[in-house]
Amino acid sequence: MDYISTRGSAPALDFEGATLAGLASDGGLYVPREWPRFSEDEIAAMAGLSYAELAARIMQPFVGDSLTPERLLELTTQAYGRFAHAAVTPLKQLDEQQWLLELFHGPTLAFKDVALQLLGLLFEEFLGRGGDPLTIVGATSGDTGSAAIDAVAGRARVDIFMLHPKGRVSDVQRRQMTTVLAPNVYNIAIDGSFDDAQAMVKRMFGDTAMTGRFRISAVNSINWARLMAQVVYYFAVGVQLGAPHRKIAFSVPTGNFGDIFAGYVAAQMGLPVARLVVATNVNDILYRALSDGDYSAGQVVPTATPSMDIQVSSNFERLLFDAGGRDGAAMAEQMRGFEATKAMRLTNAQREGAARLFTSARVEADGMADAMRWAWEHAGQIIDPHTAVGLAAARVDDGDASIPMVTLATAHPAKFRDAVERATGRRPALPARVGSLFEREERCVSLPGDYAAVRDFVLANAGR
Ligand SMILES: *Cc1c(COP(=O)(O)O)cnc(C)c1O
Repeated sequence: MDYISTRGSAPALDFEGATLAGLASDGGLYVPREWPRFSEDEIAAMAGLSYAELAARIMQPFVGDSLTPERLLELTTQAYGRFAHAAVTPLKQLDEQQWLLELFHGPTLAFKDVALQLLGLLFEEFLGRGGDPLTIVGATSGDTGSAAIDAVAGRARVDIFMLHPKGRVSDVQRRQMTTVLAPNVYNIAIDGSFDDAQAMVKRMFGDTAMTGRFRISAVNSINWARLMAQVVYYFAVGVQLGAPHRKIAFSVPTGNFGDIFAGYVAAQMGLPVARLVVATNVNDILYRALSDGDYSAGQVVPTATPSMDIQVSSNFERLLFDAGGRDGAAMAEQMRGFEATKAMRLTNAQREGAARLFTSARVEADGMADAMRWAWEHAGQIIDPHTAVGLAAARVDDGDASIPMVTLATAHPAKFRDAVERATGRRPALPARVGSLFEREERCVSLPGDYAAVRDFVLANAGR
């Protein structure tokens, strides 16, 4: 399988190349040249596979010649062996229509582990084949950072620089990053928002002072391999709930549009997805884009769901490219306009393409807290604030009620225990697998929200 850039001018790469590159050199995102498709019989035959086997089966067409089927299965077995639940992503029923898909049983308690545990192994595999060592730069609203650091800490031939917005991540999130003292891990707290941090990371990819000296890569969901890994759980739950013979709807608490774009990919591959509900908090650029075509960034408002406090959703470009007819030159033009003015209108083709599968809901703090209480009082489930945004959107969705609606439970409630306690009066305990997080030493540098300061820090420390 070949990967092409959404902006049309970067060279096409194979899976190994696209994984190591992260972002395309023209500023675009890599997407597969075409969507592989499973027949109904092939989907029916997925029932009964273990999660690791299913993962290898879904990923094989994307991986192509970069890994043999046997090696791919070894890697998925190793990645998903670290999960604390035998089903890896267990499904819970809340009522007749509503279900929860728990994606937080990995080492750092959020769904990011599902993709990043595998990505860490893929990096190691591909770097072991030779070439230059890798410097990973990333920006996190909290959960990607800890999952990526866990996945690469102490590994050879790779170091990682992770930027987070200072004071805007939860204590558990921060400590999961800053207490990892491996010498190849650098945590940077910057003054500013997640969007500021993400913009700095994107700029480094186009900065020859960086790219001329190091091979840099991304672990944000701009990296295709992450989305590929997330497609798997849509199929896992689909098959459990009756696919290919029954349709399924999903509600996804959304920030960077990565997790839900994986659902769109699953639909392109043949999974009968009835609809995808984009659940946002008050940082609602996606809600506005999908409801009236207005993709314009405002100021980020901090909320109890920090992993969704995003105004610029990188992966939305992948949808606009695909739904809008895959015209790289037009996409590059549209994104240049957006980067200059922080606003753009979706084209009619993009709006119609998106509307075939997506709906959207914007959930405020009250709706989120109500959903947390409802899950506890009616189904005995304690859920995290992000999951609660998804569930609130799922419950107001007015589509066909006979279709099961699955909300993606993106974080363990203990990761956000203050917010959970405020809404439900119950304080979830940290699971044993995170250990003595609050007793450990932290290491982190603080830098101003200034590109040159961050770049100079990376230049001074990378590849040491
Ligand atoms: C990252 C994250 C999200 C948002 O996912 P995207 O792929 O960025 O849309 C939602 N909830 C939690 C807990 C997260 O960590």
